[in-house]
Amino acid sequence: MTPRRKLELIGRNLWWSWNPEALSLFRQLNPGAFDASGNSPLAALRRADSDVLDSSDFAARVDAAFEKFETYMSGASVDSSFPSTAYFCMEFGLHESLPLYSGGLGILAGDHLKAASDVGLPLTAVGIFLRDGYFKQYFDSRNRQQDEYSSIDVTLHPLELVEDEEGNPIIVTVHLGSMPLDLRAWKLQVGRVELYLLDADFDHNAYEYRTLTRRLYQSSQKTRIRQEIILGIGGIRLLRTMDKSIDVYHMNEGHCAFLTLELLREEQNSGGEEGVRSKCVFTTHTPVMSGHDRFEPKLVTSELILIQKHLGISDKQLLSYGRVNPSDSAEKFTMTILGLKMSRSANGVSRLNGEVARRQWHHLYADRAVEDVPIKHVTNGIHLPTWASPAAREFLSVYLGDWESNRHQKSVWSRVGLIPDDELWRYRCDLRERLVEFIRDRTRRQSFVQEVDIDPDALTIGFARRFASYKRAPLFFFDLDRAAKLLSNPDRPVQIIYAGKAHPADTEGQALIRRILEITHMEAFRGKVIYLEDYNMQIGRMLVSGCDVWLNNPRRPYEASGTSGQKVAIHGGLNLSILDGWWPEGFNRHNGCLAHQRCDK
Ligand SMILES: *Cc1c(COP(=O)(O)O)cnc(C)c1O
Repeated sequence: MTPRRKLELIGRNLWWSWNPEALSLFRQLNPGAFDASGNSPLAALRRADSDVLDSSDFAARVDAAFEKFETYMSGASVDSSFPSTAYFCMEFGLHESLPLYSGGLGILAGDHLKAASDVGLPLTAVGIFLRDGYFKQYFDSRNRQQDEYSSIDVTLHPLELVEDEEGNPIIVTVHLGSMPLDLRAWKLQVGRVELYLLDADFDHNAYEYRTLTRRLYQSSQKTRIRQEIILGIGGIRLLRTMDKSIDVYHMNEGHCAFLTLELLREEQNSGGEEGVRSKCVFTTHTPVMSGHDRFEPKLVTSELILIQKHLGISDKQLLSYGRVNPSDSAEKFTMTILGLKMSRSANGVSRLNGEVARRQWHHLYADRAVEDVPIKHVTNGIHLPTWASPAAREFLSVYLGDWESNRHQKSVWSRVGLIPDDELWRYRCDLRERLVEFIRDRTRRQSFVQEVDIDPDALTIGFARRFASYKRAPLFFFDLDRAAKLLSNPDRPVQIIYAGKAHPADTEGQALIRRILEITHMEAFRGKVIYLEDYNMQIGRMLVSGCDVWLNNPRRPYEASGTSGQKVAIHGGLNLSILDGWWPEGFNRHNGCLAHQRCDK
């Protein structure tokens, strides 16, 4: 096989997204094309420099990467008795070149697929082909966030149209009201896991319906419910058309919960609701009530009229699946309630979030004590190989050996204690220097000008996440004089790097970004407080590796899990956090407690 052919095969599998040595091969083929495409391997391969491709040194590296890839792909699966699982989610964060995510929910889903692939779990994922992805962020001259969308070019990404044995695209149909909508699907191969993305944007559908699947989290309720019908009902129909045998359906958040209605239709003459519940599990994330989709009853009955007819049930019965009180005709239809009612088990995403979710949904189980509300927790974790920087891999392998394969064993991590302090410090300084270089380059290309007086030797604090109000991004600057004193001591230089997007409809979140941008221009903070535009997984990777301190100060207990702090540990950074989300489980009274905070919870 030629190096080009081998790279083509590697390029068609997102395995490269957690194997930096493979990724660097693609970049080397055409750094300009790679960077311009937002780090897409296939974009670089399509425009490969043939001198590089033909060199024998390069071919040897391709051989090594390909061998590693083949070994990975042919690895053993877990016990074949393990239930085959379908994983449904509205967003998937796999790599910055595929902007199919907006935040933690999608990043978790992406990490989950990669981890399932690593251990050989039989998992099939279903999402939506968001052709325009989540937005690109830039700013106008008055510091107001602007959004821009650029369509994903399927020829430059490892997306494959799903076809039947005769080579015809597989089409499934859902109904929006009584109007049929055809869906095709694109496959993304994530190691050994397949992700199928449903797409309405092709010539079977009228133009106004083609746009339905293009963007994430649109404001129109009608668009949202239609996207959710596509994901839930269309997703099940796709799995059936492809003859996938599935034992368990996992709903990651309520957006996909309509899948239970399609399962109910299938189970109509067999297991009924019990049959559906025996196959479904549900994960709830946010304690923020507005983060749970709730639809007007009229919208639900009009959009779902056909499936309602098939089920032979009344409006009231249909609506009861998404209501706390089925006889309250004014109560909206809540997707999370549908998911909870139709699942055999449910979980929050951290120990604290489990407790909060039991309180949050207690009214659904009014006859039970709050601790008996059937919502448990599974604490989110990150896919370490995705978030470990290349420098971290190299450094850790010196002291820990093959940590990647053995990362589930505590004994591997206890060896961290053997790393000499000065080596650890050199590692941190190296990571910080790389970040400083990245920030200098990045800020030169932003839509706004800011002074960047960044110091590779200063204590570097990082704060990067969605700018949802409860995360309180500008809290550090609540007392401006105090913040100025902290940041202006010449003997103890400190700098803070921010990044993050606010949803285009979230004016409060956008105001918080504006506040940070104002602060970057204030005399006392100029050059030392830096805002990086267009937060994505690449910026995330750079910040969690190079920052010394990762700051997390949400309004407790609104952070469901908040995994970004987990990404700093492997780089020797410190997590400084309110005891919210996963942190009460990570905190051991010595690592990252604010002195004035009670740490005995
Ligand atoms: C890890 C990550 C998140 C989730 O982090 P939180 O701590 O939940 O805010 C969101 N976006 C990106 C790009 C990430 O890498």
